[in-house]
Amino acid sequence: MRLRILGSNGTYPTPGHPCSGYLVEAGGARVILDAGPGIAAAFQEAVTDQRLDALVVTHGHPDHCSDVFHLFNLFRFGPAARSGVPAFAPEGVADALGAFLGAGDGHTFHSVFDWRVAGPGDEVRVGGIDLVFAGTAHQTPTLAVSLAAEGRRLVYSADTGPGGGLPALAAGADLLLCEAPLEGASGGGAWPYHLSAAGAGALAREAGVGRLLLTHLAPMFDPARSIAEAAEAFGGPVEWAAPGLEVEV
Ligand SMILES: [Zn+2]
Ligand SMILES: [Zn+2]
Repeated sequence: MRLRILGSNGTYPTPGHPCSGYLVEAGGARVILDAGPGIAAAFQEAVTDQRLDALVVTHGHPDHCSDVFHLFNLFRFGPAARSGVPAFAPEGVADALGAFLGAGDGHTFHSVFDWRVAGPGDEVRVGGIDLVFAGTAHQTPTLAVSLAAEGRRLVYSADTGPGGGLPALAAGADLLLCEAPLEGASGGGAWPYHLSAAGAGALAREAGVGRLLLTHLAPMFDPARSIAEAAEAFGGPVEWAAPGLEVEV
């Protein structure tokens, strides 16, 4: 199973740093997790044939879904046009995105993507990848996702505060791709919908994951400090999900 970071900024993109988007390839299938601003271009940089077997949109915050519009245009008008790409999202997200486009019944937004509502506990199979969703502690319905294939398992936190369904979903994962937009003690009660780097590290330790990859860092923070804070809490290997990074899970 291979993971490529298309983008990893939290909240807003900066030059050369798109927001959340992750390309997973395993079992002959290719899945994009989240479509934050900038990832449609990064996807075209990462692959040559632009084939995609499924898209997962974890929630309706723009830093995770605004490039759905540009993936739609790519697949509608690009050199490798296609339709029926399975797209999983929480209840209401596809409707909200479609409403922005004014996409009524019969609009190609609903045929280029085969939109399917996903909820906590749902399990789906895409090619050789088994996906499981869990609800997270966030302001809007949000899905963490587990991807298992070829005997390996990756868990992506999406956006979450402490608690929710992520800790159980992450238990025993080979790699946890975890949001950590806060540094120092700022992950406490003042921000119940996000994790600090130390909080992500503690979660990784308690879940017994093999490796921790920090993502969704706030653009104004220093990744080296986040890595150090997470590593101290985790006691295991920690990296930052830098744009373009490729890792074997
Ligand atoms: Zn969010
Ligand atoms: Zn976010």
